[in-house]
Amino acid sequence: MVCKKEPIEREQIIAKYLSRGLGSDAVEEFEAHYLGCDECFEELRVSERLAADLRSSNFSWKHSEGVSVLQFKAAAELTHSATELEELRKEVLEQSDSKVIIDLSRVTKIDSAGLGQLMSCYSHLVKNRGTLKVLNPKPEVRKLLDMTGLSTLIPSFSDEHEAVRSFKN
Ligand SMILES: [Zn+2]
Repeated sequence: MVCKKEPIEREQIIAKYLSRGLGSDAVEEFEAHYLGCDECFEELRVSERLAADLRSSNFSWKHSEGVSVLQFKAAAELTHSATELEELRKEVLEQSDSKVIIDLSRVTKIDSAGLGQLMSCYSHLVKNRGTLKVLNPKPEVRKLLDMTGLSTLIPSFSDEHEAVRSFKN
């Protein structure tokens, strides 16, 4: 199918579609169209990815020697009400790297929900033949990791190179 929409028109419709600004008739019409239209379908996928990147903007990945390091760009909490909690799950579970280090140096607070999320990240990575380690947790965070016994599964490191090297042992 050759798309008859002008690029600018396509962009506007897709932006409205993603922000749920289209009426139900327009949604139906667009959905019927884009499934058969390569140009609109591709544009929608790209826009969705951009929107997802914006939503999870407090995270960035760094890759070194086959190990992936997840960093927080700004101070964050891993508590039940924090948006980072759900984002962390997405970041770790929706990617294929299995040797992961989470840099916790900017995490100021963690609670049982945050610990549970680290645990589910750990389980996911182990299932994929990898594991999880953490870097530079603050003393309060470290204390909770120790108290709950999580630190026996998810070891903490204070040096990134040492943490990366530890995956080779
Ligand atoms: Zn189209």
